Amino acid sequence: MLSPSYRLFYEQPVHAVRAQGCWIEDADGRRYLDAYNNVPVAGHCHPRIGAAMAAQGGVINTHTRYLTEHPVLLAERLLATLPETIGKVVLTNSGSEANDLAIRISRMVTGRRGVIVTDCAYHGTSDLLQGMSPVTGLPLGPDVYAIAMPLEPAGPEQFAALVEDAIARMEADGVLPAALLVDTIFGSDGAIADPTGFLAGGVDAIRAAGGLFIADEVQPGFGRTGTGMWGFARHGVVPDMVTTGKPMGNGQPVAALLLRDELASEFARHQRYFNTFGGSSVSCAAALATLDVIEDEGLIDNAARIGRHLMAGLAPVIAASPLLTGLRGAGLFIGVQTASGEIAAAIVNALRRDGVLIGAAGRGNAALKIRPPLVIAMAEADRLVAAFAKAVGDVENSNL
Ligand code: PMP
Repeated sequence: MLSPSYRLFYEQPVHAVRAQGCWIEDADGRRYLDAYNNVPVAGHCHPRIGAAMAAQGGVINTHTRYLTEHPVLLAERLLATLPETIGKVVLTNSGSEANDLAIRISRMVTGRRGVIVTDCAYHGTSDLLQGMSPVTGLPLGPDVYAIAMPLEPAGPEQFAALVEDAIARMEADGVLPAALLVDTIFGSDGAIADPTGFLAGGVDAIRAAGGLFIADEVQPGFGRTGTGMWGFARHGVVPDMVTTGKPMGNGQPVAALLLRDELASEFARHQRYFNTFGGSSVSCAAALATLDVIEDEGLIDNAARIGRHLMAGLAPVIAASPLLTGLRGAGLFIGVQTASGEIAAAIVNALRRDGVLIGAAGRGNAALKIRPPLVIAMAEADRLVAAFAKAVGDVENSNL
């Protein structure tokens, strides 16, 4: 038996047996449009990625104790997408491992302990990161301070003031800032994408106080926001460290910490890092093939194009419904604000009954989260908007 700590989605959980593109099929052969899953960025079971993994599995699949070319090739490919100041890579198996290491390095290099996160953030599953993931409802960890994240930030000055306030609070406790850690699309805070550039105020503030900026790109990275590979670029900032995971292997566990050369050197002077499966050959082959597909199929442009189309389709539904109060997002990361967690859950379940899968996040789980694979086509986006309008109508009529 699996532990009862697992939780399934939906009043009637989907028993998924196979998937292709944006579609998941259940045990009865019913198909669902997957507009929630941000892992299969290139679409479920992309044949090129599956073939690359199978081929590599038949040649060599080993760890980084031996000299193999895949981790190096992957590191070079990833670094080519990042600002020049970021020059080193550590491969891990999960976003949690990448964030955990980023925090360790920030504390070791600065000699300080304080970490700032947003108040509905999620950054990972380790004990350290659960204390930096207030969305879980668990208490903040030692030396962790949360900022009250506005759903519609005014701009860089306001975000700077929030970070400065957190710094003042920690300094009053005798703690100095090591890092500001944020998901640059603020996914679990409810998809806070605009105004572009607002993040820069907080990045300047943490640096002025001697701390580092860690961009958690697990959600927005690999093209989801439709403006290049990484979410931080929308804000015109350059992180000290970048973490990524979920979409990186299109489903195969592979993740990474990408960091400034000096930080990597300083860490390596004091500590070794070995992660048995991190950077293993099949995982690297999956990530390399995912990068190829994103490039060759123009998926970042598709995310921008279909994202705009989806937002345009959803806007009138939101304007017309008393249950819905806002539409936010970038590319194919879209958040719809509802009046309550109860309403959001009712819409999510109505859509599931109609064969469309989305999720909820944010304060009180009141924001709907729409994140289809980046291969989604216009007709599928139209199907999503039509189902969304119908689900909202059904929930309105149910007098919730
Ligand atoms: N950071 C963010 C923003 C995430 O959404 C997640 C996963 N939901 C993680 C980190 C942790 O990644 P993983 O589950 O791969 O450890």
